[in-house]
Amino acid sequence: MTMMMDAGASDNLDSVMPVRGFCIGAPGPKSLDDFIGFIQRELAPRGVNHLILRVDFRYQFDSRPEMRDGEGLSREAAHRLLAVCRTNGIRLIPHINLLGHQSWAGSTGKLLRQYPEFDETPHVKMPEQYKWPNPDGLYCKSYCPRHPKVHEVVFALIDELCDAFEADCFHAGMDEVFYIGDEKCPRCAGRDKGELFAGEVRAIHDHLAAKGRRLWIWGDRLLDGRTTGLGEWEASYSDTWRAIDLIPKDLTICDWHYERADQTPVYFAMKGLNVVTCAYRSPKIAVAQAQDIIRFRQNSTPQLKERYQGVMQTVWSDAGRFLATDYQGKAVGRNATNNAWLSLQAMFEELLKHRN
Ligand SMILES: [Zn+2]
Repeated sequence: MTMMMDAGASDNLDSVMPVRGFCIGAPGPKSLDDFIGFIQRELAPRGVNHLILRVDFRYQFDSRPEMRDGEGLSREAAHRLLAVCRTNGIRLIPHINLLGHQSWAGSTGKLLRQYPEFDETPHVKMPEQYKWPNPDGLYCKSYCPRHPKVHEVVFALIDELCDAFEADCFHAGMDEVFYIGDEKCPRCAGRDKGELFAGEVRAIHDHLAAKGRRLWIWGDRLLDGRTTGLGEWEASYSDTWRAIDLIPKDLTICDWHYERADQTPVYFAMKGLNVVTCAYRSPKIAVAQAQDIIRFRQNSTPQLKERYQGVMQTVWSDAGRFLATDYQGKAVGRNATNNAWLSLQAMFEELLKHRN
């Protein structure tokens, strides 16, 4: 591991790239120790300084006992994760996916199981066997952002997680929202989808800001999927992209592109938003994304340079599965050469070349 950092090198790396992130699903109780070891052994020496932990509803919530997951992360586990991150100069940012992603394949998520009245599309029944595409256009369910009770519930969960992790930033997800402003929703029908999306961003932002906390979200709903050719997953077909001119500017946008090193960070930065480019499985694309952010920072006004915050490696499984497969070299088929562990190594080798 010749590319590992020396003590004191992080100051220099901070000027090359302020945010050097890693995003993963929170470990279950059985993989907690392994994951803590991974942070110490692999993330800290590479200079990773932001950990987005996708806890979602897998937490032993006390503030809303009906949302408690008895198998989820405990407060004690949260404290252990916070301690190892603090020791290693890593800012821990908890994530709950809000608005969209309230179901997965054929199963409804915890929030809509407890509160079916929050469902934006109650007329869409969950299929026994999920298939995409399907006649309902069901990817994931959304909650209705205009339901009068929804924020009372989700804000309590946000506060509890942020308190447990002593976090000054919170990641609200908000990616891949397909159901928004449904024509059958009594509160949202006929409303502008850009305004609906922006309204929800602003509500969460303002709640956090009142406690001195800042909001991070995924960027895909803010990109026009048709004009750019980026499609309806990593960008939006439902006009939510117009929200980009309606949201607060002190957000951090996690701009994920996994098939190409798209140049969309320039768009976000020029709109006044902080941006972090996110990689997934391809080491080659991850390296190109890191090089792009470095180049954007070198060739920009001070105002824009400041907004090109950095890069983040994403892992779309939980920590336990990642440590048992990708990290052990047990990924098979195409994943054997394209996976998040290889991408992380390549991305951070590239970054460390730029420190001097
Ligand atoms: Zn609605």
